Amino acid sequence: MQNNYILSHRKAEPENGILYLVGTPIGNLNDISQRSLNILKNVSLVACEDTRQTKKIMNKFNISNKLISFNKYNSSIKIPNLVKDLKEGKSIAIVSDAGMPGICDPGEDIAKTAKSQGIDIVCIPGACAAITALVSSGLPSSSFIFEGFLPRKQKERDKILLEISKSKKTTIIYESPKRLKKLLKELFDFCGGDREIMVARELTKKFEEHIGSNINEVSELFKDKEVVGEITIVIKGINKKEVFNLDKLIIKKELNELINAGLSLSAASKYLAKKNGIKKSEIYNLI
Ligand code: SAM
Repeated sequence: MQNNYILSHRKAEPENGILYLVGTPIGNLNDISQRSLNILKNVSLVACEDTRQTKKIMNKFNISNKLISFNKYNSSIKIPNLVKDLKEGKSIAIVSDAGMPGICDPGEDIAKTAKSQGIDIVCIPGACAAITALVSSGLPSSSFIFEGFLPRKQKERDKILLEISKSKKTTIIYESPKRLKKLLKELFDFCGGDREIMVARELTKKFEEHIGSNINEVSELFKDKEVVGEITIVIKGINKKEVFNLDKLIIKKELNELINAGLSLSAASKYLAKKNGIKKSEIYNLI
């Protein structure tokens, strides 16, 4: 029935010469769709981030097909060959280890090349950790910002953290469990402890957890724990009044940093007053 609907506006899938970006589960293998299975079974070849991972899905659903490796280390070498195959009429599926290809996973570059060469790209939608976390967070979800993994270089990281702290929209971040506590500390420094967040752990899996409610409480909960499993963080945006309070928080943080670096209170306040276009006395009021 579902396939009839699809077939009513497309030919039988897979079609020759089409690049399929196929979403796969982010933990629970039952989240795979009939349409994805059909594509994985019937395309000319499946290009996978890790063939061992994709084999787990293929084995569970008793399907087999030609698998080749396609990941960030070999994609620049493989893309020209895959494009040649597509132009010769083969159908190709791209799958990552979990979730949607192209979302912090291989897929983006081949889609870009295929588009530039006039090759049709069809996405077979599947699970995505960002969307799954957002929808289950109870935070505003119709308009949001997805940051993926924050940069590792502190300067670039701080720039994005500052943007997140002032964003009126909900923000979604991916983070490794090893770095979650560092990220929570940074979020505290930039957003304050009262900002609502939700840490989604092991989505769709047996030990799925949604850990809220604000940065203070979540940091406290993780304080003495080893963080394991896959993590997505959802952060609430702020309103105008909160932006004002946040500016004060950031100025206060900068003031402390300048004083710790050796400036006098008066010199630091003068500098920050000029930088932020406010009176020196307002800076004094903050402390
Ligand atoms: N392409 C994937 C998608 O569509 O969500 C994301 C791949 S990215 C390399 C992996 C990151 O996604 C993990 O480090 C984690 O932040 C997040 N993630 C993936 N699966 C998750 C899960 N089951 N629960 C929570 N976060 C998950």
